[in-house]
Amino acid sequence: MIIVMAPGATQKQTQDVIKRLEARGYGHHVSAGVERTIIGAIGANEREKQQVAEQLSQLPGVERVVPILKSFKLVSRDHHPQGTIVRVGDAEFGSGHVGIIAGPCTIETEKQVRDAAKAVKAAGAHVLRGGAFKPRSSPYDFQGLREEGVKLLAEAGQEAGLPTITEAMEPRQIELVASLCDAIQIGARNMSNFDLLREAGATGKPVMLKRGFAATVEEWLKAAEYIATTGNLSIIMCERGIRSFDTVTRFTLDLAGMAAAKLETHLPIIVDPSHATGTHRLVGPMALAALAGGADGLMVEVHPHPDQARCDGPQSLTPKRFAVLMEQVRQVVQIVGAEM
Ligand code: PEP
Ligand code: MN
Repeated sequence: MIIVMAPGATQKQTQDVIKRLEARGYGHHVSAGVERTIIGAIGANEREKQQVAEQLSQLPGVERVVPILKSFKLVSRDHHPQGTIVRVGDAEFGSGHVGIIAGPCTIETEKQVRDAAKAVKAAGAHVLRGGAFKPRSSPYDFQGLREEGVKLLAEAGQEAGLPTITEAMEPRQIELVASLCDAIQIGARNMSNFDLLREAGATGKPVMLKRGFAATVEEWLKAAEYIATTGNLSIIMCERGIRSFDTVTRFTLDLAGMAAAKLETHLPIIVDPSHATGTHRLVGPMALAALAGGADGLMVEVHPHPDQARCDGPQSLTPKRFAVLMEQVRQVVQIVGAEM
């Protein structure tokens, strides 16, 4: 917090403020200008900040006190320094536990999602993904099987012994997704749909929040705070690439943003190298880089026949490629001292 002394405040008055800060165990930094003195207090606990600011503002010679409050609190690492483990079925994400989510971009047929589920389970994935309500950029593209897709995903997950996750695009879809699946995905295009975030949080189910492709890390964390205000802290953050000037990859995977967000929040953060890069050739390298950089998991698109996929075929791994990647993933996870 910043304490602004009034013009003409005496040295003793400034010293009195400093003594108060020291008594509370705060550090301080004094900047004595020509007109007025400004004191920066360091180390104030987020919870008592407002109260201390009010008390200090009563001292003689103090003009005003400006508490620097973080716009996200519940998801802030200040409140939970050790990190949180989020569970989706038996899968664990965060605090040294790496979880792998895999499956097709979109649920197309019963056979396709069953085959995908069996394949990703055999390779060691922990959660089955698949889109039923699809946020397609063009209204003429395949929009997903909707309710029927959610059911097929849930059945395939049950058969393969995998918990499931699928995206809800609007509040009316939340109930269905929450009743049939183990986690709710909020897509990049909906990161700032605050009613949707609250509705998803209120189910008490784990929520995976993808970063909007034009969102800053701070905006992403504030969006997570919306979910947290419902009392639900089972939130998995997912970095999936942001827009940049470069079109060599579909989006620009912001691994530094992922690592920076990890410093700020206790929530697990995973990385989606499929949507970030747009090509199966880069999924492996970026998946491994993400885990080496401290990601708590991955979301990877896997299709039994990517050449026949109705959506995102070029970035989808074949079951064989996914199995090879999982071998490498296990090695990196071991090197970084995590477990899966
Ligand atoms: C998805 O994971 O199915 C998806 C549509 O991704 P994003 O929201 O990151 O574009
Ligand atoms: Mn996709």
